[in-house]
Amino acid sequence: MDIMSALTRIVGNDRVSNNPEELFIYSRDSGAQPPRHVDFVIMPTTVDEVRSILLLADEFKIPITPLGGGFTLSALVVPNRGGIVMDLRRMDRIIEVDEINRYALIEAGVSQGSLKSYLEKNHPRLQHSTPEAPPTATVVGNVLIQGHGHISPRYGLNSDMVSGMEAVLPTGEICRIGSCSLGSSWFTRGPLPDLSGLFIGWLGTTGVVTKLSIKLYPKPTYREVIVFKSDDVNLMTDAIFEATYLDMLEDFFIINQEKPDWLNHIFYVLILSGHFKEELELKKTAYKRLFKEFKDGGRVEFVEHLHPALEKRFLDVPPLAALAADFRKGGGFEYTGAILPITKVPEAWRKGMEIFRKYDMMCSYVHQVLMGNSIMFGFNYSFNRADEVEIHKTRKALEESNRLTYDLGGIVWKGEVAAQKLALERMDSNTVDLMRRIKKVMDPRGIMNPGNWDLG
Ligand SMILES: Cc1cc2nc3c(=O)[nH]c(=O)nc-3n(C[C@H](O)[C@H](O)[C@H](O)COP(=O)(O)OP(=O)(O)OC[C@H]3O[C@@H](n4cnc5c(N)ncnc54)[C@H](O)[C@@H]3O)c2cc1C
Repeated sequence: MDIMSALTRIVGNDRVSNNPEELFIYSRDSGAQPPRHVDFVIMPTTVDEVRSILLLADEFKIPITPLGGGFTLSALVVPNRGGIVMDLRRMDRIIEVDEINRYALIEAGVSQGSLKSYLEKNHPRLQHSTPEAPPTATVVGNVLIQGHGHISPRYGLNSDMVSGMEAVLPTGEICRIGSCSLGSSWFTRGPLPDLSGLFIGWLGTTGVVTKLSIKLYPKPTYREVIVFKSDDVNLMTDAIFEATYLDMLEDFFIINQEKPDWLNHIFYVLILSGHFKEELELKKTAYKRLFKEFKDGGRVEFVEHLHPALEKRFLDVPPLAALAADFRKGGGFEYTGAILPITKVPEAWRKGMEIFRKYDMMCSYVHQVLMGNSIMFGFNYSFNRADEVEIHKTRKALEESNRLTYDLGGIVWKGEVAAQKLALERMDSNTVDLMRRIKKVMDPRGIMNPGNWDLG
């Protein structure tokens, strides 16, 4: 069977390639994992095309890797076993925005940037939860990896914001999840058995999500950033607890970097918002008072004069929290995103520091407080992609911070294959078995992004 001709029959000449120059960019990402081989890249524009490609791949047992923006940095969209990369970015229609029922129905390739600017132009009172990822990252890719955005401390993970979904299985069935399975409205995914869990967190190993309904939220008129700093790692758990307990935050992240000197403190960055100026003032006063009185006062200090450039970057949507990341010549950047309970933050901080020291890397921390009960604790490593020694060091540091995450009782977020293996090794065996059975039902011939969540 001539696979290239068969793929061309599905999408035409322009949207499929086996040209080495074009495959090159799909064979790697900007993280620290080694490049891998790709046989074909294809860009469908319709659900029918997605289905035909999947059926062909299923018949000939060709691995398929779904790709959104490709920005996870952990090579989740770089095929482990060759085959076809299905680049979904041409499926980029914003199908509907229902302003009253507050959702946007979009195709798989709609980027964060395009949804944001569409809403700004057409529905300025509404917003979606925007991650700090580059604007060409897709909304669907982010939801499927359980990402978070600038209003997550208030409303939850972006994967909690799904109101409906359409997915194509490798066996060709097109399934709808939520109210859209009963009628034409995509306003909710419950109360029904929540089948979105068959795709969320599975890293493209169960099917291809072609449409998504994502919740929209009110967009307050007034926003302000206030920053507190401290040098006491031991205070972090209580500081996070108290700040989230007050329950008035739009966004909340914590940054620190060893150099330059002024950044070498623990900065608590709080984004506040309100529909009225008075509301914003009240929140500001409440947080200033909270930290003034915190642990008998004076141990977390208000930053009086935040540089205007910094203020702007923090207030941007998404904010530039990764400002604290030590971006180096050579452009490589990766991090272990450790989802941790907040009680573990001081220990993660200290042990993470030992890893930075061991590999002679500059400490740079960016942590996103998710809700009261968890944090995305970021062990950040930047490296020169042209320098093999640095890449090797980064992989070792990632390996150690992944292991540390599990030792602390946390979970590595969007982990590369090795981190997924660590999770499976530690996971309760009945749970692994359940995953295996689900995988078998969803993808009986094992063609979907093989190597990821490798259940044997
Ligand atoms: C500087 C920087 C900052 C970041 N900050 C954040 C942040 O603040 N919050 C955050 O959540 N993330 C962040 N990220 C991580 C990541 O870039 C984002 O989560 C991004 O939104 C992922 O979307 P993507 O389109 O790039 O997904 P991809 O990398 O393309 O895909 C992710 C996974 O989903 C699968 N997949 C993609 N589309 C489909 C589909 N339609 N059907 C089935 N499977 C699919 C892929 O196979 C892959 O396994 C950041 C990354 C960088 C580089």
